[in-house]
Order: sequence, then C-alpha cells, then structure tokens
Amino acid sequence: MKKQTEFKLNKRDSVWFQENSAHVNIAYAKEVCDIAILPIGAIEQHAAHAPTGMDTYNAIGIAEKVGEATGAMVLPCPMYGSHPHHHWGMPGTIPLTYETHIGLLTDIIRGAAVAGFNKFLIISAHGQVSSTIVATHKLGIEGLFTISSTWYDFLRDDKNVLEDYMWHADEAETSVGLYLYPQFIKMDLAEAGGGTPLIDSSWKIAPGQAAGPGMLYHFEGTFGLPEKDDLENGVIGDPTKATLEKGEKCVEGVVSHYARLVNELKENFPVGINPLGFRNPGGYATAAEIVYDKDHDQKGQLKK
Ligand SMILES: [Zn+2]
Repeated sequence: MKKQTEFKLNKRDSVWFQENSAHVNIAYAKEVCDIAILPIGAIEQHAAHAPTGMDTYNAIGIAEKVGEATGAMVLPCPMYGSHPHHHWGMPGTIPLTYETHIGLLTDIIRGAAVAGFNKFLIISAHGQVSSTIVATHKLGIEGLFTISSTWYDFLRDDKNVLEDYMWHADEAETSVGLYLYPQFIKMDLAEAGGGTPLIDSSWKIAPGQAAGPGMLYHFEGTFGLPEKDDLENGVIGDPTKATLEKGEKCVEGVVSHYARLVNELKENFPVGINPLGFRNPGGYATAAEIVYDKDHDQKGQLKK
C-alpha cells in the first residue's frame, strides 16, 4: 500500500466501495469526495407479497441514487438490522439486538474512516433509530461526523404522494419496491392488515408524518403487542394502494433532499476537512482532552 498516495484519480470504478480497489477508494476519499453513505435495512417478514430483504433493498436503491447524484461513496450495506421489542419472535424476521447493531455501525464507520472518509451519512429504511442514534453519538465523541437518517422520516411525505402514513409492508414500502425491484413484488398476494395500538394513534407521530403538539415519536414507548401474536398477515397498512408511480415520486423526492444535504456538506467542508475538527479514538474516557486539527482553531472553529 506504499504507493496509495500516488494514485491521482478523479474517478472511481463504481459508486459502491466494495466494487473498487482499496487504492481507488483511498485516492477518491483523499482527492475527490470524502463523504461516505452507509445504507442500512433489515431482514424482516414483509407479508406474502414482498421479500424479507425489503428494507435492505429500499436502503440500497436510495443510497445508490444519492451516491450517483452527488459523488459520495456508498459503503456495503449490512443486510441485518435492529428491532424494537414487539418484532422479536416473529417467524421470518432475523433481528439484531441494539447492542450488536450499535457495534456493527460503529465498526463499519471507524473502518471507512481509516480509508480516509471524513463525513458519514446513514440512510436507514427500517425502524431502528433506537440504535442508529446511539451509534451516531458514540462516533461523534470519537470525532467521526455522522448523520443518521431514515428515508421516510427525511422525506416527510405527510400524505402528499401517499394516501396513508408509512408503517409496514404497506402502500409506501410496496410502492418503493415496485419502483426499485418489481421482480420481487407479488401484487396478487397483497392485502391490507394492521395491529392493535396500545395508545390512541393520534398520540403517535407515524413514520413520514409531520409532527404536531401533543405527539410522541412512534418509538418513544412500548406501544405495540408482540407481532407474532397480534398481526394476522404481517402487514400494517394497505399494500393494495401501492403503485410504481408513487414509489418513483417517493424515491426521487427523498434522493433530491439527500443530494441537497450532501452538496451542502461538500461546499462547507471541502474534501479533507473533518467538520468536527478532531479525532478522539478514546471516546467517552478522553472526551475532555480533544485537540483540534490544523484546519480548526482551538475553539473548534474551521479556519477561514
Ligand atoms: Zn419494511
């Protein structure tokens, strides 16, 4: 690897990290773009009409389009995700614990940072903020600038394109599937379904819904019964309302929001700049001892 800095590359072979040589990825991060996107999903039952990898494929499809639109590198997507309490024990779902998932995400991003990437954007397509936000702040203490997002909450469609708020194996997810991987969707098997909410639905900010006063994010409580007992057909919502056109509008809409965000980062923090201005591999224990890098003053401000 001695000659890696001699690679003067202005292009990559692929938007995907795993399809480039290490030399290409290192040179690309050093000279072209040091923003890396990590798509994350889950292996989870999505009823009879959709594949168990639905969330993972949704994350991969959206992240790839953002990488193509912006020049950000896309890191390989771990297939599995973390799950809230009520998903456990459901046949067809293979959940990671929060502890495993936090370790997975932090290890991946630390590794990508060794290749020279300085800014990280997690694009999740599954309800796993309980671990992604913890991972993001653990990485932040280490000086690894990370944004954690979930595509439907970032889109905030709020019943603009979709008739319903997004839940599970429903209109939203199935529409995205019809746009990104129609070969895996069996619309003839799609049927509506739902679970039993333990507090009135009006209290909860549904996925993709704009928040109002007196509302809780839907993960701020144990509001669902175990799915294995409560769900009749594995659906929460109505996938019969799904269309390819709705999927295209949702995907292209959220890709445009992500592209604006990535382009702002590129503009404000050019290649080679770590927005946080420090690295602190000691994490919590050494958080009071951070020293800023040459690009920042000792109050952490980026030098002009
Ligand atoms: Zn899903």
